[in-house]
Amino acid sequence: MPGLIERYIDRLPFAEGDPIITLQEGSTPLVHAPRLSERVGAEVWLKIEGSNPTGSFKDRGMTCAVSAAVREGAQAVICASTGNTAAALAAYAARAGIRGVVIVPEGKIAMGKLAQALMHGAQVIAIQGNFDRALQLVRTVAEKHPIALVNSINEFRIEGQKTAAFEIAEELAGELDALCIPVGNAGNITAYWRGFRELGMAPQMFGFQAAGAAPLVLGKPVEQPETIASAIRIGKPARWEQAMDAMTASGGAVNAVTDEQILTAYRFLAREEGVFCEPASAASVAGLMVHGAGNAQRVACVLTGHGLKDPDTALSQVGGVVPCEPELSAIERAILR
Ligand SMILES: *Cc1c(COP(=O)(O)O)cnc(C)c1O
Repeated sequence: MPGLIERYIDRLPFAEGDPIITLQEGSTPLVHAPRLSERVGAEVWLKIEGSNPTGSFKDRGMTCAVSAAVREGAQAVICASTGNTAAALAAYAARAGIRGVVIVPEGKIAMGKLAQALMHGAQVIAIQGNFDRALQLVRTVAEKHPIALVNSINEFRIEGQKTAAFEIAEELAGELDALCIPVGNAGNITAYWRGFRELGMAPQMFGFQAAGAAPLVLGKPVEQPETIASAIRIGKPARWEQAMDAMTASGGAVNAVTDEQILTAYRFLAREEGVFCEPASAASVAGLMVHGAGNAQRVACVLTGHGLKDPDTALSQVGGVVPCEPELSAIERAILR
């Protein structure tokens, strides 16, 4: 499969001949989830966005944002990030041969994401403050200096991310009753809704936030957002109104799930469906398990990022390895016990 700009160029703000910075993102698997379906009493599909080149859906927006920045002659791109945007920015900036700068909350991003951003050669600046503060700062930097801002307030991000809705629609022949999706800065739910609307579809949009970082559920910003799901640890979503509009207009809802509910879904997906996603991604499935999805018969859950992004949380959820002497008898005792 080509990258998503090439695949969907007719529906994206690009033309033949434009510079395209791609890692062949998109075209991710939509996997049926039999055990989860049985559990919730609906036909459930998992959109595995961890299969993107850097392991999250952020690549969809980043191929567009960085391509557009290069088209405009940018020499540098910047973002605030809870981790995955940083990893995607770093990879696409490397690919484009331009400078990448990311601002992250110190000590608050998962290890895999940090490793990616650094390996791809981005400058990683860690502030003693949360994501919301980091976003404020990069907005100002981008206003004052010739550095392109590629957070999801950048329209090209939303344009790229809407292509996931196109893919789901194609795979399910346009038949989808509801979408369950984690909501952090609220760019992705905005993008999916735009994508579905462009196709004339209107599945119910169910957004889920972590209970400790649930401004849309509470109806007011959260000053100190807290959750184990670091990718959605955001207290003041940039696309607040658009996210609420998507949920209201589609007859969906926004609800909160606790960290415990998120971790239960996270383990369930890994053990029962063979799908390893990161904690924030599991919020979509936790929400479906706890709150349901109205009367929907056919539901898609967006699994936004790969489980390997956050090995620390994974290891905190499982038993340890089994120590053993390097002898057949000892191995047999361990296995056959
Ligand atoms: C960015 C991200 C989210 C949240 O998406 P928003 O567009 O900020 O709402 C959810 N899960 C993962 C893994 C992410 O990287």
